[in-house]
Amino acid sequence: MEIRLYNTLSKSIERFAPLQPGVVRMYSCGPTVYNHVHIGNLRAFLCADLLQRVLRVVGGYTVRWVMNITDIDDKTIRDSQPGSPAWKTEFMGQQTNDPRENLRRLTRYYESVFLRDIEAIGIRRDHLFAMPRATDYIPAMMDLIRRIWHNGYAYVSGGSVYFNLSRWIADHPYGLLFAVDLEHFVAGARIDADQYEREEVSDFVLWKARKEGEPSWDFELDGQVLPGRPGWHIECSAMGHELLGLPFDIHTGGVDLRFPHHEDEIAQSAAGYGTETARFWVHNEFLEVEGQKMSKSLGNFYTLSDLLERGLDPLDVRYAMLSAHYQSVFNFTFEGIAAARRARRRVQEYIYQLQEQEGGQQSCNVEELRSEVFAYLTDNLHTPRALAALFTFIGEHPAAQLDRQWQRELLSFFEQLNEIFGVWHIGERPPLHIPVHVKQLAQERWQARLERNFARADKLRQQIMAEGYQVRDRSDGYDIVPLEE
Ligand SMILES: [Zn+2]
Repeated sequence: MEIRLYNTLSKSIERFAPLQPGVVRMYSCGPTVYNHVHIGNLRAFLCADLLQRVLRVVGGYTVRWVMNITDIDDKTIRDSQPGSPAWKTEFMGQQTNDPRENLRRLTRYYESVFLRDIEAIGIRRDHLFAMPRATDYIPAMMDLIRRIWHNGYAYVSGGSVYFNLSRWIADHPYGLLFAVDLEHFVAGARIDADQYEREEVSDFVLWKARKEGEPSWDFELDGQVLPGRPGWHIECSAMGHELLGLPFDIHTGGVDLRFPHHEDEIAQSAAGYGTETARFWVHNEFLEVEGQKMSKSLGNFYTLSDLLERGLDPLDVRYAMLSAHYQSVFNFTFEGIAAARRARRRVQEYIYQLQEQEGGQQSCNVEELRSEVFAYLTDNLHTPRALAALFTFIGEHPAAQLDRQWQRELLSFFEQLNEIFGVWHIGERPPLHIPVHVKQLAQERWQARLERNFARADKLRQQIMAEGYQVRDRSDGYDIVPLEE
């Protein structure tokens, strides 16, 4: 099936085809492991996950999906310094006198937290071709910086190496993904920070000179030794080149990465390797919380652990995020997650019923449903329309009324759909575990009813509800079910 994607490079929806037949090479900017990632970061990883799953399941492609781990940059160094509040000795061990070892301890810890988070929200480790750590690719970064320098687009100043942007923009485009502000561009002005604003466009750092107490590597360039460490942008250029080869098919990230990160990646790779970075650039929109920008000062800043502590199911969070179109701002609300939970359970219940019900007389057209749902998914990942089509179908075709053959056909469709959404359980309905004391309360209530002591029965009913269950009476007994059903 043809897949169409919005490409930030051409600012239009294009028909996707990989450079090598049958194989898609895709790179996603991964987490910076200095803390728990927030739910805005998770949205970006989920959008990339959705894309690679659609390419796999509907496109029939083999996907080589690379997501890097940024374990060296301004923030990881800052937080691995002695005395940093980010240091949690209980998990990371003691700080040492070796800045590189301290960096390793901090980042390995947060890497393990990240791996747990993505597993919880249904990103499968076996779908990832590689998760390279930046510190394992420093020789490749040095090699790229040497190439840029040899080609005349880098210079050394104060022990750091900078990308010579004025030289570059003289005969190359810059601002391919994002409208950069070259109006105030000052030739020779330099910026050392990993992140900066579009008004601050200037020569950016490729290699940063070592500062006292910082982790460093010795870089030999043109007969000089420059102790230091890579800039953030060069990391992705080098890892993408090493693991996928350039140009690869798709580069993903949040819209906030278009500039400077991705813009600088494009310039560096072109200046060093002489090639384009990626054919398609796919960017997901921001996430807001209750209609506001998420920020620590507003008290609406959430990590996945914060949500788990509030009792949310991470797969409801996954479903909620996947239900929105990746190019629209996602408004995270607790109400929205509750609605997503109900929608997800409705499909789940339908799947169970397809398995359990005897089957009726009605027929349905599973192929028509499949092509409709997949047509929306392949149309620039339009999940809201795909899910709307699914719910219309479910509403019109009660599971119990469908002929057994159609029930089976539908089940295999749901199995395939779940390869994309990854939020349902295909199989037997798991047995419900009712706590013993709830069963006892229910038994006492039944007894009270038989004795026509309705006041006591009602009191017991309330006690049962307080435990999160309810009793549904039948003529000859009762069922205990979770309250929300
Ligand atoms: Zn990156």
